Amino acid sequence: MIKTDVLVIGAGPVGLFAVHQLGIIGLKAEVIDNLDKIGGQCIELYPDKPIYDIPAVLECTGESLTKSLLEQIKPFKTNFHLNERVQEISKEKNNWKIKTSKDKIFIAPNIIIAGGVGSFEPRKFPIEGAEKFENNGIYYSISDKNYFKNKKICIFGGGDSALDWAIELSKFAEITLVHRRKEFRGAGHSAEIVKKLEKEGKLKIKTPFQINSIEGQDKINAITIKDDDGEIEKITADCVLGFFGLIMKLGPIAEWGLNLEKKHIPVNVENFQTNKGGIFAIGDICTYPGKLKLILSGFHEGALAARACFKLARPNEKYRFEFTTTSKNIHERLGVKKSD
Ligand SMILES: Cc1cc2nc3c(=O)[nH]c(=O)nc-3n(C[C@H](O)[C@H](O)[C@H](O)COP(=O)(O)OP(=O)(O)OC[C@H]3O[C@@H](n4cnc5c(N)ncnc54)[C@H](O)[C@@H]3O)c2cc1C
Repeated sequence: MIKTDVLVIGAGPVGLFAVHQLGIIGLKAEVIDNLDKIGGQCIELYPDKPIYDIPAVLECTGESLTKSLLEQIKPFKTNFHLNERVQEISKEKNNWKIKTSKDKIFIAPNIIIAGGVGSFEPRKFPIEGAEKFENNGIYYSISDKNYFKNKKICIFGGGDSALDWAIELSKFAEITLVHRRKEFRGAGHSAEIVKKLEKEGKLKIKTPFQINSIEGQDKINAITIKDDDGEIEKITADCVLGFFGLIMKLGPIAEWGLNLEKKHIPVNVENFQTNKGGIFAIGDICTYPGKLKLILSGFHEGALAARACFKLARPNEKYRFEFTTTSKNIHERLGVKKSD
């Protein structure tokens, strides 16, 4: 049994920054994530892509942002419990009892749910045999683009991820972009680049086509695609990438008696508490009038939720607002040189 001040569900960017905000006010957090790595959507969906709207950071990638957030919380020596899903929660006196998929038990007066879109899963190819090649020829996300160097790749999808990766990978691989409609639904600018690359012979576009079959025994040799009239074409390929978006699966969070609004958790904007005392929701998973699903909004939400957690974690103490620039307490917690 692990006792802590705050259990944070989700190691995405918002969960990570919440740990920082808890740490500087002296609260201890444990973090659980059902993915095998830290970083949430930033790492799982777009580790290599540039982000331009983190305040005061001109440009970073999903991966570098995650690294910086981890560096920032290093002084707090936070424990991460990865590959573990929070399954059940129940109330025990003034605490919440939290049980994970590995039967680990946590006891905490506060829970911060930073679960993003829940246990998100990519939408997969709806054809027989596709599972057999998953992560061995068929991929739904890219963690290392160098792996695809000089390969023959079919990219399926018409949204931003499909277009962006087609553009990026066409720099060093042979790309065929396949989409079931004539028009792409991703950003117009990216669609224009893709068409320009096709004219220059740097990639091929097949629309409107859908996957029909995958050929190969231990590895993929080729695929067939079919058009709206059922005409079939064969394409030699080593790899197939599917970018059909995510299935938003709230998972066990939906069973915890929290109010839900279209798979999101309504919160008050004063402290981001849910309908249950001591349970807060921040980041993509929460909703309130005007909510923007941006990392920077999640950072703000985490800052306020952390202060609210203080009341329940330290009922006999009064929270005192302090700036990081001048607070000796904060400097000590961060392990930085003492202020004058
Ligand atoms: C392609 C793309 C580009 C983007 N670009 C930008 C951008 O430029 N700027 C910007 O601000 N935002 C951008 N976003 C949005 C941004 O990534 C999200 O707003 C952000 O990731 C939300 O962070 P989060 O921590 O709330 O959730 P997430 O990043 O989704 O992390 C949630 C974590 O919770 C875990 N989890 C869920 N349920 C459980 C459970 N029951 N038990 C254990 N773990 C659980 C999940 O596994 C996940 O790791 C982009 C998103 C995408 C997809």
